[in-house]
Order: sequence, then C-alpha cells, then structure tokens
Amino acid sequence: MAFSFFNTLGRSLQPFIPIEEGKVGFYGCGPTVYNYAHIGNLRAYVTHDILVRALRRAGYRVTHVMNITDVGHLSGDTDTGEDKMVKSAEERGKTVLEIAQFYTEAFFRDTERLNILRPTIVCKATEHIDDMIRLIQRIEARGYTYQAGGNLYFDITKFPSYGELAQLRIEDLKAGARIDVDPNKKNPYDFALWFTRSKFSNQALVWDSPWGRGYPGWHIECSAMSMKYLGEQFDIHAGGIDHIPIHHTNEIAQSEAATGKKWVNYWIHNEFLVMDKGKMSKSSGNFLTLQSLIDQGFHPLDYRYLLLGSHYRSQLQFSFEALEGARNSRRTLVERLQNVASAAHSLPPAGTVSPSDLGEEARSALERFNTAIETDLSTPRALAELWGLLRNPAIPPEEVLVVVFDMDQVLGLGLYEAVTAQPLPEAIDPEFQKEIEALIEERSKAKKEKNFQRADEIRAYLKERGIILEDTPQGTRWKKVSL
Ligand code: AMP
Ligand code: ZN
Repeated sequence: MAFSFFNTLGRSLQPFIPIEEGKVGFYGCGPTVYNYAHIGNLRAYVTHDILVRALRRAGYRVTHVMNITDVGHLSGDTDTGEDKMVKSAEERGKTVLEIAQFYTEAFFRDTERLNILRPTIVCKATEHIDDMIRLIQRIEARGYTYQAGGNLYFDITKFPSYGELAQLRIEDLKAGARIDVDPNKKNPYDFALWFTRSKFSNQALVWDSPWGRGYPGWHIECSAMSMKYLGEQFDIHAGGIDHIPIHHTNEIAQSEAATGKKWVNYWIHNEFLVMDKGKMSKSSGNFLTLQSLIDQGFHPLDYRYLLLGSHYRSQLQFSFEALEGARNSRRTLVERLQNVASAAHSLPPAGTVSPSDLGEEARSALERFNTAIETDLSTPRALAELWGLLRNPAIPPEEVLVVVFDMDQVLGLGLYEAVTAQPLPEAIDPEFQKEIEALIEERSKAKKEKNFQRADEIRAYLKERGIILEDTPQGTRWKKVSL
C-alpha cells in the first residue's frame, strides 16, 4: 500500500514514508475535559480513527497517543482568559479532578459509541508535570526562554522558523497588532511555558518547579507527552485546523528548540464541522453533543456515516436533514447487506481478504477503495466504492460480504455486527420523547420541593419503559436501554 497525505507542513500531498519501516508513531491532540465533547470535536477523533484503522489494515504497527488536557488550557489559546478546568469546576461546585474524571469518562463513552478505537496510550497532563518541567529545562538551557512577571516565556524571535506550519512570517509577527494583553511578553506571539503568577487566587492545581510554584502552559503538555511515548522524532501529528496557527505552531517551536532537530514529519488537520449559526464552541456552552443526537432518535453510527460522507479537509455544514439522510443511507446499507447475507451460502469472517481470492469485479472495486483511502483518506470515494460493490449484480454474494467486511475495517461502521446479529435500535417516538422530557422537569421540581416519593415514582415509571435517568452536573440526562 502506498499512502500519501496532505501535509499542512508544506501544504502539499506527500508520499508517506515512516521513520521506521512498518511502524507509525501518531499523536492526536486529545480533549480538554471541562465539558462534554461536541460533535465538532468528535469529527477530529473520527478522522484520527480512520487514519489509524487505515494504517493498521495496511499492516503498519501504529502507536496512537492521545493526551487528556486536565490543566493549563486557558479560555484563549494565547494565554489569555481563565483556566477552563478551574472555571468549570467552580461553576459546578466540584473539584478540578472530579470534573476531569467525569468528562473524561463521558468522552470515552462517546468515542466508543462512534466505534472509535481506543488509542494505544492515553495520557493525562496532570500525571506528566515532571516530564514537562524537564523539557522546559532543556528549552531554557538552550537559551530560548525569559522570565517576566514571575512566568517563564518562550521567545519566538530566537526560533527563526517560527510559524512555518501556519505560513506566518516572523517579521510580520513582530510588527503585527498585539493579539495578546499579557504585558510580560516581549513579543505578542511569545507564549508561556510555566505560570507562577496564577491569575486566580484559588488555582486548584499547582506544582513546585525551578521557576516557582505554579502550573504549565497548555502547549508544553503535547510536546512532553508525545516525545515521552513516541520519541523525539515521530511520524504524524493531527488535530483540528484551529490548532495550526497557535497550538501546533508553538508545539513545534518548543520541541525543536529543546532537541535541535526536526520533530514531526507529517501534520494532518481536519476542517471544522459548522452549524447553520456558525462556529460550534465548547466554551460558549452552545453546542450539540452525541447524546443529544441519540436523544433525538439517531444512532451514533448515523453521525459517523455523515462524517465519512465528507472529506476530512472539507468544511462540513451540520444539519438534521443531512443527518437524516445519513441515517437513511446507513439503514439501507445494512438492509442490503442483510439481503446479500441471506442469499449467501455462508457468512465469511470479518477480516482482511486476499485480492487473489476474488473475481475480477470485486478485486477492482477493492483496489479502487484502497486507492481512495490511501490517497489522503478519501472516505467519500471509499463509500462510493462500497455502494458500487453492493449494486453490482455480477459479484457473488459471498464475495460482496467478504469485501465489505474488509472495507469496514477502515470505515468502522460496525457492518459485520449489523449483518450477523444485532438489529438497529428503533428510533424513539417523538410523542414519547416529549412525555419523557415533561416528566424529567416534573421530577426536578419534585426534588426541589423535597417530594422524593414523586421523584422516585417518575424514575421507576420511566425505567419500566426502558428509559434510564442519569443526574449530571448539567442536569438530568436520559438514555434508552433495551427491555
Ligand atoms: P478541544 O477539546 O477544544 O481541545 O478540541 C478537541 C479537538 O477538536 C481539537 O483537535 C480541535 O481542533 C477539534 N475541533 C474543535 N472544534 C471543532 C469543530 N467544530 N469541527 C472539527 N473539529 C473541531
Ligand atoms: Zn496538542
């Protein structure tokens, strides 16, 4: 297999050559766990998943590392605003670690429902402070830092290729308008490696460091943890396009400043999922979660199917009409496959098929599918090949199944499971949904009035109908379970 990826570094489609033959080191920026992931965030993780699945299916041994940001991410990516974790904990009356734990679990529940494979290594920022301190010391020893106002900053003028990823010019950056209000900075684009002067007297998590008691800047965690698990040079780093100009630009500067060599070879960035109203933002609290789609009767894989229908580098406008379209297509796909399966003499196992075992038509469909995936992960073209296969009456049903199951190792639509056993869960009747919501409201009121008997009655009544209530810091949520 010959992969090529659109590398943000250089802005071109480039053949993929790993540092070590047969192996891939991959780091994808993980979530900041102060709230639920929104469906835009989940687009980033589905993109990473397709990449990992495609490489593994092609025989690469992929080490996939994902960080969990549970400290240090301020509301502005440029060291401005409040600490997202501290703010969320205060609002919800919990400790920072409780908040982190709660939303980390919620995150992995979502990724599991989307059939996203667990990363090989998941690492929390708060458990790697020593690694960050050691890395900052290396950067400092090489003369890239200065202290001001109690904090330690990275001086971007010491790193001549600063901004290459984002195609920023350092002269423009020096002369440009101030993007930042931090008066300690020599240049507006300098960034904090370590804060000792917390802006918040109640900063919950602080550590001792050579620069004083404090906490790390946001960017350093990704450099420290990726190098710890993947080495000082590795193959692929990914994230959403919003990370190009600041977060990833700063990650490169500090990593290469520390080691004196090139850090990452391929940078893969997914475009945004946007709403009719514009940008979806976790910090504004105005966003859709996977659970909210499920509550409206969609299957999580309907959303995955919707994402696969667009290339990861194209902006995707979310709408419920589009999601309904994806649901219909996915249901039709499963139904067709079930029909093919009933026409087949036997069900092949899920796994990789050898092209030499296939007839001409099935083999060439599989080859076109592979080319689509290898060429910068073109899932829309790959899906089209899958449909073409199903529509081709000349291909025997056993071959259709074996090829589809092979393709699904990349697509992750759970097609083997769908065909072999599990019927799709039924959508919930909208009238029943209204009733559930009214009862949840009545229950909250009853609880406030200390009428626990009524509150328990409502819970029990819904449980009998397969609806389980869960009280969260953001209010009561519900889910359908099979009776
Ligand atoms: P965060 O938890 O805010 O650090 O974001 C997690 C990931 O989601 C990052 O890779 C972001 O670049 C990405 N991301 C944020 N918003 C969107 C969006 N609307 N569409 C696609 N990716 C996004
Ligand atoms: Zn990162």
